[in-house]
Amino acid sequence: MLVLNKITEIKAILAQEKLKGKTIGFVPTMGALHQGHISLIDYSKQQTDITVCSIFVNPTQFNNQTDLVHYPRTPEADIKLLETAGCDILYMPEISDVYPESDNRKFDFGYLDHILEGATRPGHFNGVGQVVSILLEGVQPNKAFFGSKDYQQVMVVRSLVKQLSLSIEIVSCPILREPDGLAMSSRNTRLTAEERQISAHIPKWMQEANQLIIEKGIEAGKQFINEKVSKVPEMKLDYYEVCDAETLESISDIKANQKVVSLIAVFVGNIRLIDNWMVN
Ligand code: AMP
Repeated sequence: MLVLNKITEIKAILAQEKLKGKTIGFVPTMGALHQGHISLIDYSKQQTDITVCSIFVNPTQFNNQTDLVHYPRTPEADIKLLETAGCDILYMPEISDVYPESDNRKFDFGYLDHILEGATRPGHFNGVGQVVSILLEGVQPNKAFFGSKDYQQVMVVRSLVKQLSLSIEIVSCPILREPDGLAMSSRNTRLTAEERQISAHIPKWMQEANQLIIEKGIEAGKQFINEKVSKVPEMKLDYYEVCDAETLESISDIKANQKVVSLIAVFVGNIRLIDNWMVN
């Protein structure tokens, strides 16, 4: 695997490969890699000729500076994991390579800016738009792979690609989970042993809530989650919403044939975890 820290180097290499007719797959990450990230590498390898991964903890998407400072960084282990997975090129830049000058662009993702992650993390999606646009324009992949764990982010990235008229296919990949059901996340490593145990309730409650939603309606599911979370002193609910799976608009009842997703953000201690499950 080539490990490079300049986008100009990546561009030069990929230009050669494209001339040979090779297709490029791209997996942007913030590092502290786990099997969820590696599953995206696997999808990229299956669907394209050359897989490029990036590891960059993007400061502009953190609305909470403490979260940025404490974001886990494990570069050596990441490189080993990517090598084993068969990743071809790793882009591991300094901030100055991604942002040679400060990025003052303002994106408009419409209502996505104002709901769920957009509402509780102001500026977050604008930062995602900044970094993803720079990375996509630098790597110019045929396909870019994103995890549906960040459900709203996939929608934001699709909107970005449309706004910038990029001819890149955005592939949404399934959530990888720990054996107890907790969605894999780099932030899980920051949980204490006790918090980690408590966190395993999240996927279980979400599935139980989905069952209640189907049997008794959305309000019953919401009540269930609120009650469960409020009984655990270490937990604080940021949001729990039941939404149309295609638009992410919050709904109060399910129409025939409507695809529905439930989404949660919950603090366990100081760590904010997110998850989502299809209801039907
Ligand atoms: P991050 O490093 O957290 O920015 O994530 C990089 C990419 O990996 C994003 O597209 C995430 O949605 C995806 N990802 C993170 N966790 C998982 C997971 N448990 N399963 C699948 N994809 C994931």
